[in-house]
Amino acid sequence: MVTNSPGNCLRCKQSLGLLERITEDLTGVSVPGKGELCPNCYRNLSDEERAVYFGN
Ligand SMILES: [Zn+2]
Repeated sequence: MVTNSPGNCLRCKQSLGLLERITEDLTGVSVPGKGELCPNCYRNLSDEERAVYFGN
């Protein structure tokens, strides 16, 4: 089973650890049971994508 390495955005795959080092404001948004989204992706999620990641 392949999982994303910790600290990478589920959507754009960029390293959240790297972002956090550059800008403290940019911390990942936890997706329960899946991983993390970067703040940019989280903000830009469509309703459909939000349902995929958060199951609502
Ligand atoms: Zn992202």
